[in-house]
Amino acid sequence: MSVMPEIPVITRFAPSPTGYLHIGGARTALYSWLHARANDGQFILRIEDTDLERSTPEAVQAILDGMNWLGLTWDEGPIFQTHRFDRYKEVIAKLVGQGKAYPCFCSKQRIDDLRETQMQNKEKPRYDGLCRELSASDIDLSKPHVIRFKNPKDGVVTFKDVVKGEVTIANKELDDLIIARTDGSPTYNFTVVIDDMDMKISQVVRGDDHLNNTPRQINIFNALGATAPEFAHVPMILGDDGKKLSKRHGAVGIMQFRDDGYLPQAVLNYLIRLGWSHGDQEIFSMKEMLELFDINNINKAPSAFNTDKLKWLNQQYIKATPISELLPHLQWHLDQQDIDLNNGPDVADLIPEFSERSQTLDELAKALTTYYKDFEEFDAKAAKKHLRPVAKEALQRVKSKLNALDAWQAEAIQGCVNDTAEELEIGMGKVGMPLRVAVTGGGMSPAIDLTLSWIGKERCMTRIDMALEFIANRESQA
Ligand code: GLU
Repeated sequence: MSVMPEIPVITRFAPSPTGYLHIGGARTALYSWLHARANDGQFILRIEDTDLERSTPEAVQAILDGMNWLGLTWDEGPIFQTHRFDRYKEVIAKLVGQGKAYPCFCSKQRIDDLRETQMQNKEKPRYDGLCRELSASDIDLSKPHVIRFKNPKDGVVTFKDVVKGEVTIANKELDDLIIARTDGSPTYNFTVVIDDMDMKISQVVRGDDHLNNTPRQINIFNALGATAPEFAHVPMILGDDGKKLSKRHGAVGIMQFRDDGYLPQAVLNYLIRLGWSHGDQEIFSMKEMLELFDINNINKAPSAFNTDKLKWLNQQYIKATPISELLPHLQWHLDQQDIDLNNGPDVADLIPEFSERSQTLDELAKALTTYYKDFEEFDAKAAKKHLRPVAKEALQRVKSKLNALDAWQAEAIQGCVNDTAEELEIGMGKVGMPLRVAVTGGGMSPAIDLTLSWIGKERCMTRIDMALEFIANRESQA
């Protein structure tokens, strides 16, 4: 008994470089990548850069940066369509030779007039096929012309979309698509087919804004005697107002998420859930993503982007990621904020305390600042409340006790605070809060003994003096 050979899984991500890697693109990249990786397949990165005006080297770099940051590694590529023009020309010539494509000499004026008339008659604007049957004697290739694909006139195109189910379009809805422009450059719907054919792509995962292109592309596959891949058209990502997600809604470029303090793993986890689910599980390790993700279960309905949920996930990842893995990501934000970890305590001691309170790495870096870098001003609100003349004595006393300590340890520090409160017969908070504001600059920090132990003796002394000076100034202004 013979067994049908299985088609090897080869997927691709084929962005047009337009400035950044859009979050929606990153999601289709992830789905394609997971499908390839989970099926021992190949994943190709293809840059659709035929729009020469928009495709700058920076825009290409933004895609590579985004993919690298997310860890979506590719097996082949980046393959640039602009490097494949000879191949496209060869296929166009072949199709023309076989009578499956033809030169069209219609002027722009004629096409515009045609469109105008069709619109007036409430018809769908489409090319009427005037040049389709030109006889050889009417063809003068020295005149400006485009090349059009001879779309079948009758019948239907039917395909089973992995997400949408069966899709059927009548050929009379489709016109003869331009496959090469007047300057000879090939168009998107054509190059995508040649590439998917040459690269033996088995599944195409892309946004459903391309759904209308698919029947046209299938007709070209058929004309070339090639088998079309399977298609999975993923619904768009919406903003919180139900409209297509765009810059108006906030960050849409992947590197912006890095800048805003998200971990790539959290973004991947967020993206996999935005359009796919497995029961009500929210957190997926990469291993689970590879085991559980199935393109057959992609949601049919569009999903809305929810920043709060992404932040929540990010916090879960910040808490759960081992410090050694977290640090390289945090380092980027520390650098941005000019924080040098050599200028203070071992950050491994601090991270468990602060990761509980930080939803983003940006927040985490900010929370760490005071332990590594001196500040020039106290937080106005905290200072107003806690650095008052009434706190002067407590600060002076606690300072001299702290100054006398030989060993700068949490327990001994706490002893100084307790003793001061006792001597002055005041509550501990009356010592602790002014002290906290004095040494951190603000009103929030972990336990006071830990806080001081991390900041270090010398820094604490200087900062308490600064607080006393602040109080003195306040007194003189009163
Ligand atoms: N280059 C197309 C885009 O960026 C994607 C084409 C495809 O995936 O087939 O929208």
